[in-house]
This record gives sequence, C-alpha cells and structure tokens, in this order.
Amino acid sequence: MTYHSFPREECGVFGVYGHEDAAKLTYFGLYALQHRGQESAGIVASDGSTVTEYKAMGLVNDVFNEERLTQLRGHIAIGHVRYSTTGSSVIQNAQPFRVCHAGGSISVAHNGNLINANKIRKALEDKGSIFQTTMDSEIVVHLIAKSRAKGIEDGIRHTMSIVRGAYSIVLATEDTLIGFRDPYGLRPLCIGRLNDAYILSSETCALDLIQADYIRDVAPGEVVIIDKNGLRGFEAVKSKRRANCIFEFIYFARPDSNIFGRNVYAFRKALGKALSKEVSLDADFIMPFPDSGNYAAIGFSQASSIPFEFAIIRNHYVGRTFIQPSQSMRDFGVRVKLNPVRELIRGKRVVIVEDSIVRGTTSRTRIKAIRDAGAKEITMLVSCPPIKHPCYYGIDFSTKGELIASKKSIDEIRQFLGLDGLHYLSISSMIEASNMTENDFCLACFNGNYPMNIENYKGKFSFER
Ligand code: 5GP
Ligand code: SF4
Ligand code: MG
Repeated sequence: MTYHSFPREECGVFGVYGHEDAAKLTYFGLYALQHRGQESAGIVASDGSTVTEYKAMGLVNDVFNEERLTQLRGHIAIGHVRYSTTGSSVIQNAQPFRVCHAGGSISVAHNGNLINANKIRKALEDKGSIFQTTMDSEIVVHLIAKSRAKGIEDGIRHTMSIVRGAYSIVLATEDTLIGFRDPYGLRPLCIGRLNDAYILSSETCALDLIQADYIRDVAPGEVVIIDKNGLRGFEAVKSKRRANCIFEFIYFARPDSNIFGRNVYAFRKALGKALSKEVSLDADFIMPFPDSGNYAAIGFSQASSIPFEFAIIRNHYVGRTFIQPSQSMRDFGVRVKLNPVRELIRGKRVVIVEDSIVRGTTSRTRIKAIRDAGAKEITMLVSCPPIKHPCYYGIDFSTKGELIASKKSIDEIRQFLGLDGLHYLSISSMIEASNMTENDFCLACFNGNYPMNIENYKGKFSFER
C-alpha cells in the first residue's frame, strides 16, 4: 500500500558552479528539495572536461552514498529529484538527462511540463532524431544540441522560442552551468552564492541548508550563464506577463522557502487570515491536518482568536510503502500516518483548516477519523478555492475526473466528505492575501484561464503512443 496516492509533486532542480565539492553540495541541495519529488534522484558532475553521472529510483538518501558522491568529481554539478508528471515512472526517465553529441556533453534537469512536446517530438523524429526516453525534457536537449553549432546561448534562445509550457531548467556542459526559465515564470528558480561558487535552486530552502546567500530569482524568460568569467544573464524570450503557479504557495513549496519574491509561510498564514474574514464561526478549537495545513490554520487562529490545537498527531516515520493491512483493518492507512487525540476531540465543535482538496478521498478518510473520535460538529475551511480544472504545467492533477470540485457542488462535496460545514477561500480573497495582482499568477486550475493556449494539448499528456 502506498500513502502517496494523491496527485503528485513535480520536480526539484539544483546546480553548482565553482566549488570543489559540487556534487556533495548538490546532494544536500536535493535533500532540501526532496518534497518536490520522491521517485528518482540524480546528479551529473563535471571537472571541466570529464563528465560523470549517477541516477536511480528512490529518495536522495537511498540513491547516494559517500562512495558514489566521491566518484562524481569536479567543480560543476547539477541535480534533480523527480516525480513523474510526463513519461512513465522508470529509471530511463530519471534526470538529469544527458546527451553526448558532436559539440560535447549536455545535461539537463527540468522542472515543469511542456505542453507542445508531442508536436515537437514528432517533428524531430520525422527528421531522424531518436529518443531514449518518454520525457518532454529530452526534447529540450535535442533542440539545444541540434542548434548548438552557433553556440550554446543561441541553441537555448532557439529552443525557448519553440517550446511552450512550464520550465525551470538547469543545464550543464563540460565547463558551464546554465539556468533558464519560461517567460511566464510558472515554476520557481533562484540564484545563490556560496563564497566564489554560484548556486541555482528551485527553492531557497536548499540555499539555506548549504549556507549560500540568496542573490535573486532567474527572471521569467531569462537565461543565466555561469562560467569562468562569472555570471551573466540575458532575456531570451520576451515575458509578456508573469504567471507564477499559485499552487506552489498553497501547497508545493516548503514554507521556509521564498519563491516568486515572497515567503511561503507568510503567504499561507495570510491565506488563513483571509479565511477568517470570510467566515464567522463559533467553535471550540481549530486544527490542521499536518503538515500542509499547519500554516493557514495558525493564520486563521491568530486572526479569529479561536484556539489552535494539534488534535491529530502525525507519525513521522511512515515510509512510502509497507505491508498491506488485511481487509478487516479498515481505514488503517489514515491511522498509520495521522492519529486523532480523542481526549481533545470528544464532544467538541471542531474547525479543520486544510490547504487544499484535490480528489477528496484523503480528506474524507481523515474527517471520518475525527468523527469517530467523537467530534460533535466538524467544519472544514479550505485555504484555496475549489480546484476545478486540470493543470498542464507540471502538477499532476491532469485529468478532470480526478477533481472532486469539477463534478460536485460545494454542498455535494460537504456531504461526500461527511462535514457539517465547508467553506473554500474565494479567488479574490486569495489574491488580496498575496500582496500581488491577479495578473502575476497562473490561476488556471481555479478559474480555467490558462496563461497560454492549451486547446491543442488537452487530454492526459503522454508520449506513450
Ligand atoms: P484529497 O482530499 O483531495 O484526496 O487530498 C487533499 C490533501 O492532499 C491535502 O491535505 C493536501 O495537502 C494534499 N495535496 C494536495 N495536492 C497534493 C499533491 O500534489 N501531492 C500530495 N502528495 N498531496 C497533495
Ligand atoms: Fe499551478 Fe494551477 Fe496553474 Fe497548474 S493550473 S500551474 S497548479 S496554478
Ligand atoms: Mg495536506
């Protein structure tokens, strides 16, 4: 039985230039980004001429050990943690993805999802390209390698003019580290500095771990090139508007990270505060489902003066899989990971603050556990609006059928979840809480307005033909 049956996280990327322990720093960086992908991990390193790589299925700590890291020599390294959003879950699809071609070696680690990958791949195959994987990221490498004749910068510029979708990519050649980001800035990517070394990372929490200083984000549409001459950046494609994925703030990113210019913890607390302005409740206490619900719940409690309790306790040692309980042990799964504190809950009017509802299946079993613990009344407040539309930009709720709010009304969802009350934060309050504007964000899974036309790409995205 696996307890990761939700829609999945996407990917984390990391890169180092100019440090003798580049691979080891990358290992630590990936460790901090583990929440962004638990399926496979990989590192490619270079000493300026020789390139070495290692990748495997599993968590960062299982994939790498001292010996493997020592073999990844050099002052340049890039790394990737993956949860598949395109392509299937096999080792060939683990990243970084590397090709050797006439011009040398190119490795990429990609976070995001390209929406026109099928079309480009078909066109490349018609011209004789042979693909090794089912990943959209491989297309990027092919395109860059093909047009590298005029230099890597030109190759990337050309590639960025062709691919559509979400990408925050770190790339390594034998002697250069490069980072680039789609013109909408859908996924985060930042630049850090550790003494003389430069760092690229999906999130700042990884900079903190290796004690690097945050410098700035890679701008939407920008390419940054880091080599022996230092760092330089240029705008490769014009960014007409930003469309930062708001779900990074709501759920994906780590609360100790700053992304898109804002701290994630503070943002989530503000969402909780915004909820308290939309509802007025009489309740004994408010509680989160840890950990993802904690921050909005704290924000709600502080703003509403309803006390906060950790009324359900998490077992931190639950692994990804373990022996299947027998049929008679119903709801076993939820209780392994989270166990309600009966003494607190019995006879009480409880408010649960939850970060998001995707399919509703997890919430339903957790709510049942609170009911079984004797709660008198259960209300759930969700710190984002109903998720009604699929995401084509790298977050794996890609088919509408999975999304409870695309099929059911709020009251039907309330009934399905076994609640006495249910309230979702409105889009306008969410935007107000952000201190940013509606045009800064992608809100497509909430309002159906995709920042780039997805008409041609609808349906479950796949290379499997
Ligand atoms: P549901 O009730 O929709 O089955 O699950 C909702 C719960 O899943 C929430 O607690 C939320 O924090 C979590 N969640 C939302 N999106 C994702 C995701 O992409 N991956 C994982 N692992 N959990 C998610
Ligand atoms: Fe993020 Fe939703 Fe846009 Fe996907 S559709 S990028 S999850 S805001
Ligand atoms: Mg959660």
